[in-house]
Amino acid sequence: MVIGVDLGGTNVRAAAVSAAGEIVGPRIENPSHAREGADACLAAVVRTILEAMTGIDAESIGIAIPGHIDAIKGVVHWAPNFGETVEGDFRNWEDVTFTPVLAKQIDLPITIGNDANLAALGEYRFGSGKECANGLILLTLGTGVGSGIVLSPACLQGGLTRPSVLIGNKGGAAELGHLTIVKDGETCTCGSQGHLEAYCGTEGLLKIAAAHGIVCESPLQLFEEAQTGNESAIAAWEVYGGYLGTAIGSAINAFAPEIVAIGGQVANAWQYFLPEATLAASQASIPSLFESVRIVQAEQLEDAGILGAAALALGEL
Ligand SMILES: [Zn+2]
Repeated sequence: MVIGVDLGGTNVRAAAVSAAGEIVGPRIENPSHAREGADACLAAVVRTILEAMTGIDAESIGIAIPGHIDAIKGVVHWAPNFGETVEGDFRNWEDVTFTPVLAKQIDLPITIGNDANLAALGEYRFGSGKECANGLILLTLGTGVGSGIVLSPACLQGGLTRPSVLIGNKGGAAELGHLTIVKDGETCTCGSQGHLEAYCGTEGLLKIAAAHGIVCESPLQLFEEAQTGNESAIAAWEVYGGYLGTAIGSAINAFAPEIVAIGGQVANAWQYFLPEATLAASQASIPSLFESVRIVQAEQLEDAGILGAAALALGEL
C-alpha cells in the first residue's frame, strides 16, 4: 500500500492505493494554498498525507506536482500558479526545497515527479499500457496540453531494466504540448509561437470554435453543440483533431511508442476529433512507425494524478 498525492493549484488530493492500482482508502482533499507561499502549501500537503495515512499501513509516498520538478534533489524549480504575492506582485516558486522539508514531518520514503509524467506512468501501469506496452505516450487535454513518455526496456539499447519515465536533464523533459506545429503561429502560454498547446489547450480550442462562428466558454459547451448535430461545432473539433494529430505524428517519429493514450477532460469529446487526429498523425509520421502504433483513449481519466503518484511510489518499493 502506498499514498498517492496529487498537488494542484487549487486543491491537494491524496488516497491510499494498492499495488493493483485500486484506491483503497478515502480520497482526502484540502485547499493547497498554492499562492500563499511555500510554507503554507507544504503544510497543506503534510496535513493531507497524514489524513490519508490514518489507519493505513502505507510503505511509501508519491507526489505529483505540475511544473519543472527535480525528483533526485526533491526540488520544485518552477510550478505554474504556485508562489506568493510580495509587495503586490505575484512571484512564482523558484527552486523550492520540497521533499527534504516533508521528510522531517513524515517518516516514510517520499518521491516526487511532474504530474503529467506520472499520469503517463499510471496509465502505463494501471491503464492502457497494461504494464507491458513497448512505450507509451500520454497526452492530457485540459486547460493546457500535458504529456508524459514511458519507455520500456525493449525501447532502449543500453540496459534499462524496467519501464521508466523520460524526465530528461533536471526533470524537464517530455513537454509535447510545446512542440512547434505551426511556424510563427499562435502565441502559446509559454510565450513561444505555434506550439501544440496554443491550438489544443482550452484557449486555442475556443479560438478555433470562434473561427467557425461558435461562441462558447468551455470545451464542454463545444462538445454539447457537436452532440446536437451542429455542423460548425463538428467542423471545429475536426480542425482541433488535425492540430493534435500533427503533433502526435511528430511524437511517433521521435519515440515510436506502442501506444499513444489521450486523457484529460477534453478526451471525452474523443469521437469528434479522433478520426481527423488519426489521419493527421498518419500523414505526419513515417509509415512503418505509424503501422505499429495504437492511438487510444486513456483508461485513467479520473484520479490520474493520484494513481500516477502511486505508481511512482510503488516502483520505489
Ligand atoms: Zn508553448
